[in-house]
Amino acid sequence: MKIHNDGATPLRVAIVGSGPAGFYVAEQLLKHDALTVEIDLFDRLPTPFGLVRTGVAPDHPKIKSVTRIYERIAADPCVRFYGNVKYGRDVSLEELEDHYHQIVFATGAETDRGLDIPGIGLAGSHTATEFVGWYNGHPDYRDRVFDLSRERVAVIGVGNVAIDVARILCRTEEELRGTDIAPYALKQLAESRIEEVVVLGRRGPVQAAFTNPELKELRSLADAEVRTLPEDLRQPHGTLYEAGDRSSTLKVKILQELTIRGPVRKARRITLRFLVSPVELLPDEDGHVRSLRLVRNVLRRTEAGTMSPHATDRYEDLPVGLVFRSIGYGGVALPDIPFNHDWGVIHNQNGRVIDPDSRERVIGLYAVGWIKRGPTGVIGTNKPDAVETVDCMVEDLRKGAILHPRHPEVADVEQLIRLRQPDLFTYEDWQRLDAIEVARGRVQGCPRIKFTSVDEMLAALER
Ligand code: NAP
Repeated sequence: MKIHNDGATPLRVAIVGSGPAGFYVAEQLLKHDALTVEIDLFDRLPTPFGLVRTGVAPDHPKIKSVTRIYERIAADPCVRFYGNVKYGRDVSLEELEDHYHQIVFATGAETDRGLDIPGIGLAGSHTATEFVGWYNGHPDYRDRVFDLSRERVAVIGVGNVAIDVARILCRTEEELRGTDIAPYALKQLAESRIEEVVVLGRRGPVQAAFTNPELKELRSLADAEVRTLPEDLRQPHGTLYEAGDRSSTLKVKILQELTIRGPVRKARRITLRFLVSPVELLPDEDGHVRSLRLVRNVLRRTEAGTMSPHATDRYEDLPVGLVFRSIGYGGVALPDIPFNHDWGVIHNQNGRVIDPDSRERVIGLYAVGWIKRGPTGVIGTNKPDAVETVDCMVEDLRKGAILHPRHPEVADVEQLIRLRQPDLFTYEDWQRLDAIEVARGRVQGCPRIKFTSVDEMLAALER
């Protein structure tokens, strides 16, 4: 038996955001034998795949190969892609509600968690998001300028994004040349004068958010060595070892090996430091960052059993010419959608959007991925997350708790979108663009050369 509201028209679902979470929702809906569904994926960029295209580091091509799964999903005749269409600018909630039975927000975490310390706005102080977007050719960040002529760089935070930033800053031109890095970034990184990248953790090595494969990978950089400071691995109260799980034990072991390995003559160095918090960025006479003031921390156990950093009275000034803060992403509120600003996520329960005042669910609206649960986990984490959201959607559909759009026909929504965004990119447009990027890459011996602005993308399709 097919489930649907009136049995005549298919269930029409809009998914806002075409990154992994959005695609896994589409996959999950298509898998339901009992559902007759039509899915429209919207993206504010002309290109699909979200962070797989614009966030995953260019030297991690295996991770990017997940797009083959998304390509298969997009090839389903029940799935349509509306690229270059921004929710809130080109199409409103009211309009989506007029055309769809269910609407899923999969917009990720587009900004950075703020770091409110004096001097954070100085020239030379940037977010990791800007830098990652820049080297990946994200249209929003391609025009950012980073002064790579400085000798020492600080990266605040010890998550996998911090490791990505440090690694890309230290790769040689040869290592980056065969990747899909934006050509302007390759050129500027090749001319970089950076000698040391200091990555700063406010807690100890056990609590570092980076994962072991990413840590190990640093050991294989062609012309950069990795170091830790012996005193950072000697913590009081045995807190270094008591985590006890295999992964933390291995992490500490890898870090210890890094402190005792003999000197290697390589051009660059990544120094991983722990138990220090940034307190202030200090300027030179031109207003550019000159140094980063750090305070030494000790760890104390909270009532919840976690280890939290506490500042001591020991300060140091680390001379640096460039600072990247990489302390986690933050979600951006969407027009007309209840948003929890403290957590940077849509108010939701298991993916059902919730009105924060009444605690009632908002019929027809759902969330998935980082905008639902916060910026944690790897690409695959979005799969069970999507299953949870789709289970709620199917349960609500069974109960009849869905929207009742006045115009559920494909032609109607298509007409509206083309009117609002004449520069709409369909999936066929993306496939043509993709083929051109890959062909350009083939000439240069790399997987693709990306178009990095919407105008370039339109011109490539002769529009
Ligand atoms: P993350 O894993 O949450 O790491 C954030 C880091 O910032 C933590 O070390 C955190 O320390 C630190 N931090 C937070 N507030 C701070 C403050 N005020 N001062 C100093 N340090 C502060 O975030 P992420 O690196 O942005 O990564 C996001 C997600 O994407 C993660 O799940 C990550 O694994 C994933 N990712 C995966 C890959 C990969 O698989 N290769 C690559 C990139 C990203 P505390 O722990 O002390 O809070």
